[in-house]
Amino acid sequence: MKKFSPRLNKIPESAISEMNNFARLCKAINLASGYPDFDPPQAIIEAAVSALRRGHNQYADTAGSGSLRRAIARKFSRFSGLEVNADDHVTVTVGGTEAMFLVLAVLCEPGDRVLIFSPFYENYAVGLHLLDAQPVYVHLRPPDFQIDRAALRSEFEKGAKAIIVCNPANPSGKVFSEEELRFIGSLAQEFDAYVITDEVYEHIIFPPNRHVYAAALPGMFERTITCGSLSKTYAITGWRLGTVIANEEITEKIRLVHDYITLGAPAPLQTAAITALELPDSYYEEIARQYTEMRDIFLDYLEKSGFKIIPPQGTYFVLADISPFGFDDDRQFCYWMAREVRVAAVPGSSFFAEPVNHLVRFNFAKRPETLHEAGRNLLDIPKLV
Ligand code: GLN
Repeated sequence: MKKFSPRLNKIPESAISEMNNFARLCKAINLASGYPDFDPPQAIIEAAVSALRRGHNQYADTAGSGSLRRAIARKFSRFSGLEVNADDHVTVTVGGTEAMFLVLAVLCEPGDRVLIFSPFYENYAVGLHLLDAQPVYVHLRPPDFQIDRAALRSEFEKGAKAIIVCNPANPSGKVFSEEELRFIGSLAQEFDAYVITDEVYEHIIFPPNRHVYAAALPGMFERTITCGSLSKTYAITGWRLGTVIANEEITEKIRLVHDYITLGAPAPLQTAAITALELPDSYYEEIARQYTEMRDIFLDYLEKSGFKIIPPQGTYFVLADISPFGFDDDRQFCYWMAREVRVAAVPGSSFFAEPVNHLVRFNFAKRPETLHEAGRNLLDIPKLV
């Protein structure tokens, strides 16, 4: 038989999926993959049932149903202050995952350098490897994940087609300030590079931090491509609804590729999503409050169990330092914890380009009872190690 593509040699198994599978095997509470264990608002579920009954069962417009794109444009303008329009700037994708891959496929030629802050969400490098483009990692300095500005400038100087900015950032929980985004934007302008953002956690943010939309900064819309998702904001990760917001020319190319790759996201769920996007401001205030409560419950257990934590400014992830427990390897610790403590997390090393193996990532988007149960299990760690 002929060989598989050598590109696959650069693609490891997803550590998130690996830990999800192991959690299932040993019936651990799954705090590995980033999904909530609570329902979306009832109104959205009703809207989906109604869309199925009303016959929204065939392909929608492949760029995304017109009424959904209009709702996305209105919501983006409402929160970012930047006017975008459904016809020229918005594409609906199969989750934020397709959104990011399409953007990379549209922009990258083989060999192109794309800057990625490390730690990073695992999909970015995989997308680039599939396109024979080159991820170039710029380390954020722990514990507060500051940008090393000289190092970033130097990578732009060596040439960069684009930079990917996950804000709020998975897995670090960093929220980029307006000043940091302006700095990144000024380098992108100086070196004529694109800024690709992944803003799927835009509404999961802990005060006093606030979300700044990179595309809305002066002069940035033309070179900023905003990938988004409805998954996290409305607790519908299984609906697979994502968005790309970009200038007219890029949007045209995104739609061209999207048409061949997935044709479109599920039509009845697109119809139902309009109800989500029209929820009032109070919905976003409420989820920010709920996520703050989940974070507080869970971080308290982590600290009492002996983890050193890096408090997140946004997202529903936390990186926790396992050095006090005497393991030399984060993967070994995660397997041990899932088996013996019945809590699954993701080894931090899978998110870092540099050799970091003392951190693990927990997802705390869970009902309080789940967090208390997981937390009580974690409290046993000091007795077991
Ligand atoms: N984005 C989510 C995470 O980082 C889910 C990804 C996944 O399940 N592979 O965990």
